[in-house]
Parts: sequence; C-alpha cells; structure tokens
Amino acid sequence: MTNLLQMAQRDLTFSVARNENPKSEEERNAILADPGFGKNFTDHMVDICWSEHGGWHRPRVQPYGPIALDPAAAVLHYAQEIFEGLKAYRHADGSVWSFRPEANAARMQRSAKRLALPELPTEYFIDSLKQLLAVDADWVPSAPETSLYLRPFMFAKEAFLGVRAAKKVNYYVIASPAGAYFTGGVAPVSIWLSTDYARAGKGGTGAAKTGGNYASSLLAQQEAAENGCAQVLFLDSAEGKYVEELGGMNVVLVYKDGTLVTPKSDSILEGITRDSILDLARDRGHKVEERRVSIDEWREGVASGDIVEMFACGTAAVVTPISQIKGAEFTIGSADAEAGPLTMSLREELTDIQYGRREDTRGWMVRLDA
Ligand SMILES: *Cc1c(COP(=O)(O)O)cnc(C)c1O
Repeated sequence: MTNLLQMAQRDLTFSVARNENPKSEEERNAILADPGFGKNFTDHMVDICWSEHGGWHRPRVQPYGPIALDPAAAVLHYAQEIFEGLKAYRHADGSVWSFRPEANAARMQRSAKRLALPELPTEYFIDSLKQLLAVDADWVPSAPETSLYLRPFMFAKEAFLGVRAAKKVNYYVIASPAGAYFTGGVAPVSIWLSTDYARAGKGGTGAAKTGGNYASSLLAQQEAAENGCAQVLFLDSAEGKYVEELGGMNVVLVYKDGTLVTPKSDSILEGITRDSILDLARDRGHKVEERRVSIDEWREGVASGDIVEMFACGTAAVVTPISQIKGAEFTIGSADAEAGPLTMSLREELTDIQYGRREDTRGWMVRLDA
C-alpha cells in the first residue's frame, strides 16, 4: 500500500490543457469590477483522479466546464463528498497569496477520513492551488477586500449503487472571484435561532466539511430568511441547549473582562478563521476559552451586560458582527446594536495580514504565484 502510494506520488506531474476559449480581457475585467460571490468562474480547473489500485493519478489543469457523471455515480445517491474553501489575495506588489492553506489541506484529510474518501497529501493540495493560479492568476482581483475564492472538492465518482466507500474518486479545484462581502462598511447581522432543526449530531459528520451538513441546514436557513435573518444558529441535537455554530460560520462571544469564549463540541466544523482570530486575541493578552456555552448563558450574559460583543467568523465574510439572535421564544441583543470595537479591530488585524498590509509574523501566508 505504502509503495503504491509512493509510486503514485512520484508521478504527480500536472498536465496542462489550456482553455482555447477563455474569457476576453474585457469580459474578465467586467466580472472583476463586480464579482459578487460564487457566480463567476475562472477559465480553468484542476482535476486529479484516485482509484483504489492506482492511488492519486492523472493530475491535470483543464478548461473549466461540466463534469461528465454516470447517473449511478455514488455521490448522487449517497452524498460521499467533501470540500474546502480558501482565498487567494492580491498584495500591493501584485503577488498572490493564500492564508494557512496547510490547515485547509489537513482539514480536508480529516473530512476525507470521516467520509471514507482518500486523503489527498498536503503537498498535492498546495500544488493544485499553485497549478490553477499559474494559468488563472489574472482572475485575482485587486480592489480592497476582494479575492479569488478557491473551492477544492472531492467526491465519489464510481458508478455503483451498492452502499460502500467508492473505489473511484475525483478531486477538483475551481475558483471564483469574490467581491467585498460587505459593501458600504461591515454591517452587523441578525441571526435566527433554530429550535426545530439540528445540523449535526453526536458521532455524525458535523466536524467534516461535507455537503450533507449544508443540505440539512437549508430548511432552517429558509426559516431564518423568512424571519428577516441572515443566518441560522444551531444548538446541540441531544439537548437543544448548547450553542454549536451557524450554518457555515463559527461563533465567538466577548465578555466584559476581555475574555473570548467559543463553543467546544465534536459536531462543529473547526474554522481556520476562528482559530486565527483566537490566536491574535491571545497574543494581545486576551483570555480565550473553548468550552460549552448554553443559549441561556448567552441570553443572560447579554441581558446583564456581561457579554459585550458577539460575532461570527469564516473565510467568506471573515468576521461578521452579530447584532441580535432572534428565536421563537426570545431575542438576544437588539437589531440596531453596533459592531463591537474588539470584533472590528481583530477583523482588521486579520485582513491586514491576509492582504499583506501588516507583517505576517506567524508564517501564515503562502505564495501561490511563484
Ligand atoms: C467552512 C465552515 C466554517 C468556517 O471555516 P473557515 O475555515 O473559517 O472558513 C464554519 N462552519 C462550517 C459549517 C463550515 O463549513
């Protein structure tokens, strides 16, 4: 097994098939001027195959386009799929960087393990991003707070309706220019507290970045939108008492003594943004606690003035201040609450590092275009 893997690893040289019909410079510039999020894609994508016997093989960069799937492909029936999300940032000197991509690679390996998918070695993961950027670097926008969102993903391609881990899997990377998440200043959002639905349970897949977790969050997300909220907050599935996370972001509370508290649970996705923000806070001398947080503690803490700021964090929006939590039975905070000062200064410190405006003393940034 090890020998096979090593053999496959030696052969991992990408072939590049250029898109013969790329977007014109004019079209691309029009997209980059107003990219939105997740709706426009670059000219190329990465594709690496895996099979039980051949390991990882046939790595290539090819024109962006539809993937041919057998209707019996396992992913369509049993959702054996995982993904990652990270950004490429353009620095003032034109160079292109990613933020802690090894952490995304390691998390994708953990997700793979949980979903019985093959683990993609870290160096392949990083190389796949560099290979894509080698042909699509012009797609990284340069306006403030814009980026090229990178979406690596992997799924079961084997055509087989029996229920077991697939023996044929593909890994891809696609990329999509992303605009500033908040146009006109960072605005606090209202969050809907879901009491009817849970996103993950004990022993389930909550800690893996897999599409199924999102599938189970969509109905609650609709409920949130109907109640005028931007996102859903989920509680633990066993007792409906402890805070887990939003549909796609982690949460952090700031206490009046400066302590930052974030939920600890086996069924939440451990965000790299959260980890980084907590690191920055620790370095500033803040106490950081990762522990169970009940929704009662949150409600009472805000009412008594013990909790002074609350925010959500994740790659897409970086840090999003939370103004209020609305639930069927009670409301925490108020809709007109302003973004907290610590929330905003941590956000600024993190984005300054990501965009190269502040020295990266932790070795977090990895250059992609050289
Ligand atoms: C991706 C994701 C996050 C945030 O993770 P980051 O690494 O900070 O982007 C949080 N929760 C869920 C469910 C996610 O899928």
